[in-house]
Amino acid sequence: MAVPFIDIKRFEPGFLDTWNEKVKSMSENAQFIGGNEVTDLETNLATWAETKYAIGCANGTDALQLALRAVGVGRGDKVLLPDSTFWATFEAVVNVGGDPYTVDTNPVDLQMDFQVFQEAVEKVKPKAALVVHLYGWGTAKIQELRKFCKEKNVALIEDGAQCFGVKHNGNSLYKEALISTTSFYPAKVLGAAGDGGAVFTNDEELSVVTRRLVNHGRTSHYEHGLVGWNSRLDSLQAAFLNLSLKHLGKRIESRKTSQNIYYKELPGLGIGVIQPPKGYDENGYCNVTLVDPEVRPKIEAVLKEKGIGFGNIYPGAMSDQPGAKPYLVERFGKDSHARRISKSVLNFPLFAYMTNSEMDEVLSAIKAYNASK
Ligand SMILES: *Cc1c(COP(=O)(O)O)cnc(C)c1O
Repeated sequence: MAVPFIDIKRFEPGFLDTWNEKVKSMSENAQFIGGNEVTDLETNLATWAETKYAIGCANGTDALQLALRAVGVGRGDKVLLPDSTFWATFEAVVNVGGDPYTVDTNPVDLQMDFQVFQEAVEKVKPKAALVVHLYGWGTAKIQELRKFCKEKNVALIEDGAQCFGVKHNGNSLYKEALISTTSFYPAKVLGAAGDGGAVFTNDEELSVVTRRLVNHGRTSHYEHGLVGWNSRLDSLQAAFLNLSLKHLGKRIESRKTSQNIYYKELPGLGIGVIQPPKGYDENGYCNVTLVDPEVRPKIEAVLKEKGIGFGNIYPGAMSDQPGAKPYLVERFGKDSHARRISKSVLNFPLFAYMTNSEMDEVLSAIKAYNASK
């Protein structure tokens, strides 16, 4: 039996009927931009994020650009970002005119390394920094990181594209961020029927600026207080997300059930599985293991032969991307953990409503690999 790396078609019974009805009535009313669905979604998102404000936008990359612009990053401003992330984090800095500096990865929690970050801040004195909550959890040092940035007057933006629904010490991970973002790309934990994103903050001024930037810098219909762009979240996406949120608790529970089977079984199969640091309640976005770079292709060959999907999130450090060359000012971290991890990381299938027999199939493929050694 083939097992996909991710299957986003496993909707709850009746979900698609409700959605189709919604599309029909919204289309008949030509309700395509703004309206109740968007305002309801923003209320629902703020409740989930436990923040005062949530602003919908066109995608997760725009959310980062909005947040960077909102804290005042513009041409020539220095911005630190992790070397292990999705490329959008790097792009966002460059697209708002900032100068990117990468910070190496901590080999234990695979998030941005706090010590290397501190050294980089002292040397670069950046205007802003990005931290990415990767894999469905975050850094063990999140509180220290926020406090340090506040003391050093560095605006910390938290890329939460992968952490919707994650809790830290019982609260939403977005709750105590100065400003944070998410993505509703369909493969994320909360996915839309297309592209979407959001910005979260408790700061009223940042929320007002973000809301203007999203919609052509508008202060009124034909008055533009800022140069923004069109990054509105459309009403159909908002409606799909409102329906999805009703099921999100169950979807996350299902992901975590499968994830816990991996935590229980993989160590006994000789696979080094990474678990979230203490204090985190993950959302089951992603399964993460580290295997010897020599061994990884051999396991992958068995998985391929058996039709089992897998990922390498991410197969390269940001500072090694060809597109980084013209922009990257400096990379911090002489140990290059990001590079090493990118050659070791192997992700097994994980998604909502994965079945027991699919899980068994994945585990027996690993057993078959072990037996063939
Ligand atoms: C998905 C993702 C983004 C980009 O989101 P889009 O909605 O695809 O633009 C940014 N950062 C991280 C860490 C992501 O995983």
